[in-house]
Amino acid sequence: MLAAMPPTPPSTPNQGEARIRDRGDACPGALRLHPADDGRLARLRLPAGLLTAGQVEVLAAAAEDLGDGRISVTSRGNTELRGLGEGCGAELGARLADAGLLPSPAHERVRNVVASPAAGLDGLGGGDVQLWARELDALLCAREWTAALSGRFLFVLDDGRGDVTGLGGDVTLIAAGPSAVGDAFLYLGGQAFRIAAADAPHAALAAADAFLTAAREAGNGAWRVRELPEDVRPDLADALRRAGIAAEAVGAAEAVGGTQGTGDAEAVGDAEAVRPTEALGTPGRSGGAGPLPGVIGQGGRDGRWAVAVAVPLGRLTSGQLRALAPAHGGELRLTPWRGAVVTGFPDRAAAGERLAVLAAHGLITDPHSPWLGVGACTGRPGCGKALADVRADAVPGRAGLPVHFSGCERRCGHPTGPDGTWVDVVATTDGSYLVDGAPTPRTSLTEAVATARTTR
Ligand code: SF4
Repeated sequence: MLAAMPPTPPSTPNQGEARIRDRGDACPGALRLHPADDGRLARLRLPAGLLTAGQVEVLAAAAEDLGDGRISVTSRGNTELRGLGEGCGAELGARLADAGLLPSPAHERVRNVVASPAAGLDGLGGGDVQLWARELDALLCAREWTAALSGRFLFVLDDGRGDVTGLGGDVTLIAAGPSAVGDAFLYLGGQAFRIAAADAPHAALAAADAFLTAAREAGNGAWRVRELPEDVRPDLADALRRAGIAAEAVGAAEAVGGTQGTGDAEAVGDAEAVRPTEALGTPGRSGGAGPLPGVIGQGGRDGRWAVAVAVPLGRLTSGQLRALAPAHGGELRLTPWRGAVVTGFPDRAAAGERLAVLAAHGLITDPHSPWLGVGACTGRPGCGKALADVRADAVPGRAGLPVHFSGCERRCGHPTGPDGTWVDVVATTDGSYLVDGAPTPRTSLTEAVATARTTR
């Protein structure tokens, strides 16, 4: 049975910001390394943040052998390796390909798929979008035309709990709630359609097709939906029809959505963790919230248990990554909030034991930790634009709003959400910081950040 109303629409990238782009998409990838002050940088797309145990080991070893021994988690649940040598691209590519991490070299940068990380694990949500993510990824990699998408074009798949809808997807799928299991909603550029859940991955592909057709018509080099001119609108209805997908238009006006959450912040070297301040199941206008650190209760499709942790400042050592390797046929899911979910534990005791191990490795396992939600960009020495070593200067203050330390005004990787929902700390040329615009000496950061995180 179809639901009467669509869920809260996602924050749709702003329309009307048409601008001509005359350069190609320079977004880094695993095969297109980006030069940085600390060596080459590789960004590896992981649809739904998914890694198997074998892939964890390959990635950890690559970081040790070819990079600086660390693995960054990005705001899309992807990973970055830094400090790579000039000539290691071919070897890195071969290692990743052998591990199944590059199923199609031509598509390696377009596999931008974020999905509710706890889907299928805790009994919440109306559909297991992790399964959609796998199917959508396979569809993307199987078609030549999809390689024309930019490395920034984002698919967001929400299982109905509203945790990822605010992340600014170009194409957003939302599983309908328990009252309408079997339905899903598809959003693109202010349009919304109700579809059968079984059609969801194919419908997302059709939406991407509609965008590319519109982008070609616009001729302005748009990488994202919000970059299309106002008078060019993707014909989603036609794309769905051509794909043979039954769809019903719903609430198009409502689906225009909020103004926040452009989701464009997966900049080179970005890294932050957002404190999950919103309860699971709350549709978010902001960037939402991932699962709180701890054991995720039984209730999933296989009746097994999982654990969730946060990654301090979004960077893992190779040892920490190995500690996250799933066992018992489970999987590792990196989250858009720089966290990780490990699945597959047979009982609560086994999950609790792993959580203790992860705490011993320095990962955040306490849901009340003041370090939850503390993020920082790359800063010095990795970024040539940085005015400070923001990772060294970052302080937790006190648990509360997310806080993001930036080495310059670009604010790479800042939390997705409107102003006022996170604390902005930016380095200045005189060695101090601006905390929400207020000049603050480095020695006063702890107090200033604590106040800013807790008094709004
Ligand atoms: S210093 Fe500036 S450009 Fe460099 S990573 Fe930080 S915010 Fe981005």
